[in-house]
Amino acid sequence: MKHLVSYNFRLLLCIFLISFTACGQSNNKIDHSDSTIINKSDAEWKKQLSKDQYYVLRQKGTEAPYSGKLLLNKEKGVYKCAACGNELFADEMKFDSHCGWPSFDREIAGGKIKTQVDNSLGMHRTEIICSKCGGHLGHLFDDGPTETGKRYCVNSLSLEFQPIQDLQDKASVQLNQNSNIDTITLGGGCYWCVEAVYEMLDGVKTVESGYSGGKVENPSYREVCMGNTGHAEVVQIIFDQRKTSIEEIFKVFFTVHDPTTYNRQGADEGEQYRSVIFYRNQQQYDVAKAIIDDLNKNKVYPNPVITQLNPFKTFYKAEDYHQDYYAINKNKPYCKLVIQPKLEKFEKLFKERVKKNKN
Ligand SMILES: [Zn+2]
Repeated sequence: MKHLVSYNFRLLLCIFLISFTACGQSNNKIDHSDSTIINKSDAEWKKQLSKDQYYVLRQKGTEAPYSGKLLLNKEKGVYKCAACGNELFADEMKFDSHCGWPSFDREIAGGKIKTQVDNSLGMHRTEIICSKCGGHLGHLFDDGPTETGKRYCVNSLSLEFQPIQDLQDKASVQLNQNSNIDTITLGGGCYWCVEAVYEMLDGVKTVESGYSGGKVENPSYREVCMGNTGHAEVVQIIFDQRKTSIEEIFKVFFTVHDPTTYNRQGADEGEQYRSVIFYRNQQQYDVAKAIIDDLNKNKVYPNPVITQLNPFKTFYKAEDYHQDYYAINKNKPYCKLVIQPKLEKFEKLFKERVKKNKN
């Protein structure tokens, strides 16, 4: 018991330290200063971009006011980075600023844009750049007329507009546009347990049990149990970022499963029980990486955290009888012996964060 108390304390302390460093930025943004994903040479950019685009995107130039082709665009669709296709803004975020450049009052969530100080031309401004390719977009000002108070002043030349009817996957874009909702897929051993925990966390909208990370399409539970589909048992969590955060989701994750045992959780053994995070964007990756690094650095667990960080590809929902398993089967021995203690641990450590109206 003494051991458990000190363990909990260290974990919470460590988590506190992480929150302090990882969530210090506003608007769910984190500093991506070292996370440029596309790294092309100058010659490659010159070849790919038009002369004017190169001047703006790569040499931090500014197009003449009222000259850009997207200034008056009012069509429905998505504004992407002209250099790399990163989805930056949606039509509903655009407003008429009369400043001569396309203006937006917020960005599509997920750390797609990063900011840096720009003291050029004798002015003190905040430059905005694409977090994926590092391309210069424009500047961010605090004089926006909408409730966000922000004005993203962007060069038309830095943007490529894609009308909504052209978008192949309208559903996922609409989800992105709803900047408060995010999704994460996690494998922490038996999905019955993990699902039951997240159902209790305030801010979680839905949790589904399923399979991810393998080679077989639409696998059955039986196939996954046989252990050669490559899939992990996972839960897919849709959550409201106004009430919880990806940091909190991960904190809960690292509290309710053992991230140090290779392909095993307690008595459950096999590749399907591996500890894995399927991240959907750079922000999720960075936050997870920071937490894992800190857990290891502070030796919160006696052994190193071996949770895998893999890019999300596909989620296959498990058979209906696996959904809400704990809620329906509370009296079964596995639920009492394995799941109940995890829920109690969660309720103790995240007392203030348990949903008030459990359904
Ligand atoms: Zn870009």
